[in-house]
Amino acid sequence: MPDDPSNSDQRVPYQLPMPPDAQAEIVVPSAIPEDDRVWVPQAEGVLFRPLCLNVSQGYWMNLLKVTRSGVLSRHRHPNPVHGFVLKGRWSYLEHDWEATEGSYVYEPPGETHTLVVPDDVDEMITYFQVNGVMYYVDPYGNHTGYEDVFTKIENCRAHYEKNGLGSSYVDQFIR
Ligand code: FE
Repeated sequence: MPDDPSNSDQRVPYQLPMPPDAQAEIVVPSAIPEDDRVWVPQAEGVLFRPLCLNVSQGYWMNLLKVTRSGVLSRHRHPNPVHGFVLKGRWSYLEHDWEATEGSYVYEPPGETHTLVVPDDVDEMITYFQVNGVMYYVDPYGNHTGYEDVFTKIENCRAHYEKNGLGSSYVDQFIR
């Protein structure tokens, strides 16, 4: 019986090898890093901390940190995004809800929104899983730029090369 607590086999590790083609796990002990050099600037007052940069499925997991208030970006999501607010608050101009500390947010494919941090928030940190692309637009949907897992990796490499961590520091997060 697998869940019988008296079963002495309960603490026996799985005895078979992992699939030979499986990737290595990622464990990040200080996901909110003690070393500020790990945060990669992506715009004024906006930084990200990579956790998993998945090049075979085209998504990335990261912490987004914002140290200024006001409008941060307007973007369309062709693919879903999942967010979990760790610190601070934020909202979208297009919706009447506010994402507060401890909130989970699902952003469905097709959604276009404008991210705003309120004036009384000094620092916002949100854990985001972004799939595919961040497609930046003006209020009328005209394309102004994009980010994907590959541009995120390039940003990391350039930043870590400059600040002494070394461009290969990002390799541990790539799968
Ligand atoms: Fe979004």
